Amino acid sequence: MKYVGAHVSTKGGVQNAPLNAEAIGAKAFALFTKNQRRWHAKPLTEENIEGFKANLARVGIAPRHVLPHDSYLINLGHPEAEGLKKSRDAFLDEMQRCMQLGLERLNFHPGSHLKKESEDDCLSRVAESINLALQQTEGVTAVIETTAGQGTNVGYRFEHLARIIEQVDDQSRVGVCIDTCHIFVAGYDLRTAEACEQTFAEFDSVVGFDYLRGMHLNDSKPPLGARVDRHQSLGKGEIGWEAFRYIMNDARFDDIPMVLETVDESIWAEEIGALYGLVG
Ligand SMILES: [Zn+2]
Ligand SMILES: [Zn+2]
Repeated sequence: MKYVGAHVSTKGGVQNAPLNAEAIGAKAFALFTKNQRRWHAKPLTEENIEGFKANLARVGIAPRHVLPHDSYLINLGHPEAEGLKKSRDAFLDEMQRCMQLGLERLNFHPGSHLKKESEDDCLSRVAESINLALQQTEGVTAVIETTAGQGTNVGYRFEHLARIIEQVDDQSRVGVCIDTCHIFVAGYDLRTAEACEQTFAEFDSVVGFDYLRGMHLNDSKPPLGARVDRHQSLGKGEIGWEAFRYIMNDARFDDIPMVLETVDESIWAEEIGALYGLVG
């Protein structure tokens, strides 16, 4: 069974996210548990935590179908001590927020080398950051997102994710999230069923579907291999509907949160309906 939703608003408090998901017919969702453009945030209140859990239960969405996204400021592969420490502290805070909300996964972009270290050193630093966070938390899986390879970001090759995972001590608590727009602009074709077959076979051999903990379903404004991160509404970009038909009919994508981050939130309900309409 497929669990499709969108990255919903937390305006007025995180407790509103499940209600915003329900309003668009979502069976899964993503959220920021704090302002994603700031380093510091007020701790979650009792009202936030209890309200979130109650609303989640009320709308009937399981915690494993919720995929929180961390702050865009965090760089777990930061080449400099100060930036790295700040990022690791903020990431730990994000993990702890997930624990407080009863959630099991935290989605994040691996990091950036900022042209001050090699890609390989950056990937090792990311793995070390994950190890530190996992040692200090319980029950939350670190979910590494594939990236577009824009700027100095790592994570645009499946090999990068594998390299991080192999250096994580507790591999039962590390996973990956495939963003269809990101892998497409990173050079993995998805435009036909055959292209999907090949791309996901490569993912399976390099990383393994065992590690797949979520998907971001986005079409792409830039063409294949552009390494520019610009999402588009489904079917209106360079990827097209075939990729989403393929994913919706493949059991390897069952039982994980599949989240829209498409540009026009006014049509999310329509997009979710269209995705379920592709099944069968
Ligand atoms: Zn992301
Ligand atoms: Zn994404």
